[in-house]
Amino acid sequence: MLVATTIAQLRVEIAGRPAPLALVPTMGALHAGHLELVAAARAQAGTVVASVFVNPLQFGPGEDFERYPRDFESDRAELAAGGVDIVFAPSLEEIYPPGFSTTVVVGRIGAAYEGAARPSHFSGVATVVTKLLNIVRPDNLLLGQKDAQQTAVLRRVVRDLAFPTRVAIVPTVRAADGLALSSRNAYLNSEQRAHAPTLFAALEKLRAELSQDSAKHDAIERAAALLGSSGRLEYLDLVDADSFEPLEQLRAPAFIIGAARFGATRLLDNIWIGSL
Ligand code: AMP
Repeated sequence: MLVATTIAQLRVEIAGRPAPLALVPTMGALHAGHLELVAAARAQAGTVVASVFVNPLQFGPGEDFERYPRDFESDRAELAAGGVDIVFAPSLEEIYPPGFSTTVVVGRIGAAYEGAARPSHFSGVATVVTKLLNIVRPDNLLLGQKDAQQTAVLRRVVRDLAFPTRVAIVPTVRAADGLALSSRNAYLNSEQRAHAPTLFAALEKLRAELSQDSAKHDAIERAAALLGSSGRLEYLDLVDADSFEPLEQLRAPAFIIGAARFGATRLLDNIWIGSL
């Protein structure tokens, strides 16, 4: 496995490699969820490129950019074991050189939910992924369902800006108790970790209620009660999978989405409704 740290080096290394080319963008601190994306990429591509870059543009003021977990040596070993061909691990200056000022504005699809809680987040995600797509020119882009609104935003970016790239969404990998794996789970103390699966339980409860035709407002209230006092729910809703507009009744394709804080740690989760 080769590690490229500059755009020029990466382009030289990619040239002549077997197609199709798959890109797995990550911020490192890798866990089994990331490795599922790598495995899916490996199964469908001739060449797999994974990027490891903690993108400052997608963190708001006062968020965890500085303390976000970083362990490149461990990430490198995991990616090599997963069959990645090339790791792109650029410096901050390589991606955002002095004078950098162009950003991608995502519009309404990124305004609610995560976009409301983190106003510059999706612009930061869309900007870095647009840049990565231009650098790598992949045939396939692999994204995790875990970040559902991010998948909707980036699928929109790929369509709107006519990238010749197919987007593949990989199902969420969970711990045995249901908690979605996330690099931020490392911030939870043992008590918070014990309570964190209530977020997924609330999503499942909402799905069950909606499939019995409960009114959405009442269903959300009953599902939210599962969090008790251990977590602070930020939102729980049913949305269209493509537009991320709220839906009143269960239909496919949709997501049941939620976000909650356990202590200072903000966790997201969702359930994909692919068919009824
Ligand atoms: P991140 O490093 O958090 O930016 O995540 C990189 C990619 O891994 C994104 O496409 C995420 O949606 C995906 N990912 C994160 N957690 C999981 C998980 N538990 N299961 C599947 N994919 C995930």
